[in-house]
Amino acid sequence: MLDQLVQATYLVSTALFIFSLQWMSDPKTARRGVFAGVGGMALAVIGTLLHPQIINFNWIAVALVAGVVAGIPLSWVPLTAVPQRTALSHAFGGLAAGLVGTAKYYLWAQQGQLTRFRMGAIALEVILGFMTLTGSLIAAGKLQEVLPTRPIMYRNQNLINFALLGVAILIAVLLVIDPARQIFFPVLLALALTFGVLLVLPIGGADMPTVISLLNSYAGLSAVAMGFVMENKLLITAGALDGASGLILSIVMCNAMNRSFANVLFGAFGQVQARAGQTEQRTAKGATAEDAAQFLENASRVVIIPGYGMAVSQAQHRVHDLYEELAKKGIDVKFAIHPVAGRMPGHMNVLLAEAEIPYDRLVEMDDINPEMPQADVALVIGANDVVNPAARRDKGSPIYGMPIIDADKAKVVLAIKRSMNPGFAGIENELYFADNTLMLFGDAKNVVGDVVKSLHGQSH
Ligand code: NAP
Repeated sequence: MLDQLVQATYLVSTALFIFSLQWMSDPKTARRGVFAGVGGMALAVIGTLLHPQIINFNWIAVALVAGVVAGIPLSWVPLTAVPQRTALSHAFGGLAAGLVGTAKYYLWAQQGQLTRFRMGAIALEVILGFMTLTGSLIAAGKLQEVLPTRPIMYRNQNLINFALLGVAILIAVLLVIDPARQIFFPVLLALALTFGVLLVLPIGGADMPTVISLLNSYAGLSAVAMGFVMENKLLITAGALDGASGLILSIVMCNAMNRSFANVLFGAFGQVQARAGQTEQRTAKGATAEDAAQFLENASRVVIIPGYGMAVSQAQHRVHDLYEELAKKGIDVKFAIHPVAGRMPGHMNVLLAEAEIPYDRLVEMDDINPEMPQADVALVIGANDVVNPAARRDKGSPIYGMPIIDADKAKVVLAIKRSMNPGFAGIENELYFADNTLMLFGDAKNVVGDVVKSLHGQSH
């Protein structure tokens, strides 16, 4: 009876997880999706605690306290630090899967219950779990900049990495053939831990969001393997959902950057690009907040293109004020959202929603681009790569082929950033030197604030 109740809670949890993913894919239902996910997880924990096999709750209580103590401060991090916080969560997930697999291996080995099937599932679990642990820690370190963010390369790197993975798989196969060869098990653990480090070291800090979502997928697959080890159907279904969604997200991010998986994992993107033709001296035209206000005031269509810099300076509330000020004057204002603007998927949507900018003003890249030639002003706020026309024209550019927002096609471009420094891809942006572009140098929050003040002043 109790067992049936447990299975029923697992079934409802699985359904809630599926609805959660479905609802989270649309901003209108996203909040409901979050609640469904939290509800599904709470039910899963309750179901597990009801499990008749659990007889000692002491260690569970200790784990619960440790989880709460570590989890609460993690929830306080600012939005710009969410990628590294997510990486830490994956590290914990990988550690949990790896430790469960290790405990089960020694327990079953002692009890003589280590079948080949169980050994196969454990091997998969510990390889994926422990490589997710170390890979995610390196990823978090790079994002937090406590580790060098540039790709760390050495000779024959890919060969060495694959050889290491090959040896780990070979040892796993030997263990499946004869699970009693206990000497191999710690070697397998060490190889998995090392592989996680080596996998992420050569990847540049800016590619970490894609890597994190891939590691999320590995953590999910390791939960699937853990489900087989623990004979727990919920772990299998939830792990599969996690694994699949992580993989889909990585593919979406790669497509939006026009990069292949192989290029992200082995391309060492983010190394300093030394290219001919970049030495020529060009000057960009500067403008003041008053000039910008004048252009905006006289416009009838304005497209605002936010990027990573808006997130860094937390300018979204000032941007909301600007939107209100322009809307009051009857100016049509739209926000052009590039799928990889910022440093995580949906970064701009989240910030603009937080600032309560009406969601119907946010327009996806493919829908806004045909309208760009009719825009009187394109206001670029802390975006760089996602508006770089080199992606369309320059075959030698590392971002060639990446779809961009056609800011350059607007009648006037106003670009807010602190300096002429490049963005994520480390390359110069010719948009800033174009005849119809004016640069507004400064922190996005301050500059947008000044433009709003100026607009406000003009209307009085
Ligand atoms: P970006 O190319 O990184 O450029 C951001 C610009 O913001 C910089 O040039 C910087 O110039 C400026 N900036 C920084 N802090 C600022 C501040 N406080 N005030 C004003 N400006 C500031 O950003 P993006 O155009 O959003 O493009 C995103 C890039 O990240 C793409 O190349 C994309 O492929 C990559 N990426 C995105 C994701 C994702 O999921 N969204 C994942 C992986 C990679 P200054 O230093 O001169 O101010």
